[in-house]
Amino acid sequence: MNEPENRIKILAVDDERDIREGCERILTRLDFHVFTASRGEEALAIVQKENIAIVLLDLKMPGMDGIEVLHRIREFNQNIVVIVVTGFATVATAIEAMKKGAYDFIPKPFEPEQLRIVVKRAREKLRLEYEAEKLKQERARTLADLGMEKSRIRTIIESLPNGIVVTNTACQVVLINPIFCKYLGFDLKPGESIDHYIKDETLCTLIQRLSQNTMEANEKKFKYELQLDNHVYLLAEGQQVLSEDGDCLGAVVMFMDITEMKALNQMKSDFVAKVSHDLRSPLTTIHEQLSTVLNDMEGLKEYYVRILTRAKEKTHGLITMIADLLDISRIEAGMVHHRLEPVNINNVLKSIIEFLDTQAKHKQQTLIFQPNTESLPEIIADMESLDSIFGNLISNAINYTQEGGEIIVKSSIVQDHICVEVKDNGYGIESQYHEKIFDKFFRVKNEKTRYAIGTGLGLPIVKALVEGMKGQISLESDYGKGSSFLVKLPINSPK
Ligand code: ADP
Repeated sequence: MNEPENRIKILAVDDERDIREGCERILTRLDFHVFTASRGEEALAIVQKENIAIVLLDLKMPGMDGIEVLHRIREFNQNIVVIVVTGFATVATAIEAMKKGAYDFIPKPFEPEQLRIVVKRAREKLRLEYEAEKLKQERARTLADLGMEKSRIRTIIESLPNGIVVTNTACQVVLINPIFCKYLGFDLKPGESIDHYIKDETLCTLIQRLSQNTMEANEKKFKYELQLDNHVYLLAEGQQVLSEDGDCLGAVVMFMDITEMKALNQMKSDFVAKVSHDLRSPLTTIHEQLSTVLNDMEGLKEYYVRILTRAKEKTHGLITMIADLLDISRIEAGMVHHRLEPVNINNVLKSIIEFLDTQAKHKQQTLIFQPNTESLPEIIADMESLDSIFGNLISNAINYTQEGGEIIVKSSIVQDHICVEVKDNGYGIESQYHEKIFDKFFRVKNEKTRYAIGTGLGLPIVKALVEGMKGQISLESDYGKGSSFLVKLPINSPK
C-alpha cells in the first residue's frame, strides 16, 4: 500500500488530449505524481510498472473500453482506487462500473473543482485505509510480542535452578515451577492453598502473612530454613509482589537447596571446634606458667619482665579468641540454651560486674550497677549464655572507653520483657558501622580502637545468643560520646 506521506501516483486515462492535460495540470497542483495514458493497453502497462494508487478512467475509449480496463486493474491489484469518468449518456455504465469495484465517478464534462473534490476524497480514503492497515499490523505485532513474552517468561521460570512458588492475596498458589515439585518429590498443579504444598506450619504462616499483607511495616520479606523429611534443607526467601501503585498482590517465595552448604558449614564448625579445643589446654598452661614466673621470680630483670608480660598478654588474647571460636561453634551446632534453669538476671549481672570491676579499676573507670527497684521475675535461661551476653557487652564497654570513663549497667522491666542496658561514655561508634559490628570478625579500626585486642566475634555471639532466646539487641551510639547496648529478653523464655 502507498504511504500517503510520499507523493501519491495517479494515472489519468482518456482518449481526449485536452482532458488528459487538464487533469495533469490540476492534479500536479494538488501534489500528485501524475501519469497519463490515451488508451486502455497503455494504461494497464503503466499500472503494472508504476505503483499507481488512483486511476481516473474514461469509460468510453477506442480499443479496449473502460470497463475492461477496470476489470484488468481489479485483477491486478484490489487496492487501486478507480474513479470512472463518463458522459451523461452513460450513467448506467457508470453504475455498472461502480458495481465492478470503481470507487467513484465524475460525469463529463466536469469543472476543475469537481475533479479536485473527487480526487481529494479518494486520497482521504487511501489515507484512512493506510492508517487502518498500520493499526492492524501494530496490533498483530503487539499480540505476537505478548505471546512471545509470556512463553519466554514461562520458559525462564521453568528452567530456573531454584524452586518458585507464587501466591495470591488469598494465599492460594498461582504458580509453581518443576524444581519446586522436584524438591517436594511429587508433581503438583497450582490452585490450592499454600498448606496443601508445604507442611511446615511456621513457613506457611510466614507466606500467609506476606501474601495478605499482615506483617509488620518493616517486614516485607523473610528468610526461613525448611528441613524436609529426606534430610534436605531448603532456604526459603519470600518477598511481597507489589502492583505499580504499591498494593500487595501476593507473595513470591524462592527455594534454594542448601543441604550441601549446610554440611560444609557443619564440617567447618566441627573443624574450628576441634582445633580450638585442642589449642585451649596447652595455651592455658603456658599462660598460667608465665603468670607463675612473673609472680615468683623476684629480682627478674625489667627487660625480661616486659617480654614475659607481653607474652602473657598475647596468650591471654589467644585464649579469649579460642573461647569466642568455641562459643560460635556451639551456637552454630545449636548446642546453646541447653541447660535451662530459672535465673535472676540481677544476680547474674551483679556477679559479672564484680568480676570485671578489676579491669575497670585498672583504667580508673567507674562501673555502676543500677538494678531495677522492684525485684525482677526469674526467667528460664541458660546461665552460660547469659554470662557470655553480658560479659561481652560489659567488657566491650570497658575496652572501648577511655581511662576515667563511666559505665552504667541498668536493668528494668518493660511490658513482658526484661531490659538490660549497658551504657558507656566512651569512644562511640560511627553510624555507618552500627549494623556491621554484629557481623563475624568485623572490628572498627580507628585511632582509638587500633590498640584494643579483640577478634570481632564478641557481638555476633551476643546477637546470636540473644536471638536464640527470642530476644532483641539494639544499639544507640554517638561517635566521640559513648554507646548504649540494649538487650530485651522475653520474661516467658523458651522452654
Ligand atoms: P571485639 O571487641 O573482639 O573487637 P566485638 O564483636 O565485641 O569484637 O566488637 C566489634 C567492634 O565493635 C569492636 O571492634 C569495636 O570497634 C566496636 N564496639 C563494640 N562495643 C563497643 C563499645 N561499647 N563502644 C565502642 N565500640 C564498640
